[in-house]
Amino acid sequence: MVERLPEYIDPLYLADKRAELKGQILLSKLDRLGDLLCDDSGVVAVELVFAREGRYPIIEGQFAATSLMLKCQNCLQAISFPVQGQFKLGIVNSIEQADRLPEEYEPLLIGDEQKILLRELIEDELLLALPAIPKHQQACYPAEYLADKTILPTTTKTDATTENPFSILAHLKNIGEP
Ligand SMILES: [Zn+2]
Repeated sequence: MVERLPEYIDPLYLADKRAELKGQILLSKLDRLGDLLCDDSGVVAVELVFAREGRYPIIEGQFAATSLMLKCQNCLQAISFPVQGQFKLGIVNSIEQADRLPEEYEPLLIGDEQKILLRELIEDELLLALPAIPKHQQACYPAEYLADKTILPTTTKTDATTENPFSILAHLKNIGEP
């Protein structure tokens, strides 16, 4: 069951109301993230608190995507990559305002229409929390290896003909005996 969030939010209005929003966004709605995923089923859970810090409207948010399946850029197979994060945004409408924000806030520049697409905001934060080039931590074969079996490493002749060390031992033992 997906708890719906509004598609667009008006952060100034919500900050004045000291609103809180909580819900989930389908991963399949996040186009840029989709390129990194093996499987876009699942959701990102989001919690947002709106307030004012001095004269600036702010958003304190957190998100968690526990079922994220990234595509390994080496073997193109899935990597389970649960991710969560937090952010603090100060709403500004000019670069000058952004410069005057308290340090712990990242500026979020909004235009005259004041509304922002919520899923884009969350997608930005989510992408920042992911590795630029997701790869398995353990060694994995590059996708070309799997696609073309002729270049898969094969057992070499020397491996096949090497004598079993135990048979050598047995041999030595026999020599030592009268
Ligand atoms: Zn891999």
